[in-house]
Amino acid sequence: MKLAATLLLSSAAMIAAPSAHAAAPDVVVSIKPIHSLVASIMKGVGEPKLIVEGAASPHTYNMRPSNAAALQNADLIFWVGHGMEAFLEKPLESLGSKATVVTLEETPGLTKYKFREGGVFEPEAEEEGHDHGHGHDHAAEAGGDHDDGDHDHEGNDVHLWLDPMNAKVFATEIEKQLAQADAEHAATYQKNAADLIKRIDALDAEIKETVSPIKDKPFIVFHDAYQYFEHRYGVKVAGSITVSPETMPGAERIKEIHQKVEDLGATCVFAEPQFEPKLVKVVTEGSKARSGVLDPEAGALTEGPDLYFDMMRAISTSLKTCLSQ
Ligand SMILES: [Zn+2]
Repeated sequence: MKLAATLLLSSAAMIAAPSAHAAAPDVVVSIKPIHSLVASIMKGVGEPKLIVEGAASPHTYNMRPSNAAALQNADLIFWVGHGMEAFLEKPLESLGSKATVVTLEETPGLTKYKFREGGVFEPEAEEEGHDHGHGHDHAAEAGGDHDDGDHDHEGNDVHLWLDPMNAKVFATEIEKQLAQADAEHAATYQKNAADLIKRIDALDAEIKETVSPIKDKPFIVFHDAYQYFEHRYGVKVAGSITVSPETMPGAERIKEIHQKVEDLGATCVFAEPQFEPKLVKVVTEGSKARSGVLDPEAGALTEGPDLYFDMMRAISTSLKTCLSQ
């Protein structure tokens, strides 16, 4: 009798659940900037889970057991691609078939650039304004010299979100995938994505204005993350201390950057919150250079729908503050 009552109760609960609103799909997102876009589009439906939380860097991340469990239970997984979240490659291969995995770097319509190899970037061959849609083979321009060990940096620069036009392409793809996984909330996803795209356009105009006084002032960054921002807004990154934080720069590269900093005089060298500022001290030693902080993967920011906007604004105001001194 007791058993029957329990069964009755649980089947009543099972019937009751869908009669309200269908549950949100279980969505997992690799990194904060992308998570922010997904969170915006899921507003009012549910909240996506984030893998690289807090101050961790996607370049040096180690999976936790809770991350593996989240991936196992997911209906939909968004990541940029193997060049960005290398730690996810194996876990995604070994997943069960339940989840749809969306590799955002494969979305049609993105502007893409090749990774640059040398520490000091070659100047652009011609002034090109904001001409998008064609790649620049900086690796070939630099003569293909590798001074960062044998790490593989072939292929495209994967910091795609730092061009808001790419973020809009992502938003459209994220909306499409969410609507496919969860048709019941398609109208909400559509409206949220349209709102997000409008907000991104306003952000883009705002950044253009913020950085316009410092466009001609070259600066040095910690890792080569900013090509998309550079091409969109015409700011001038003159070199990066490392290609990517998983590979520490060799002595030759450090020497080259140090020389560049001296040549540039009162430039700015930007550290990133996830990484030791020691290398920034080394390359600015004995020069008039100032230092600032840029956070292209939002390690210091709180996750959520506003993070993308906070991150892009922080980059542009940090550039303006340091470079207009
Ligand atoms: Zn990066």
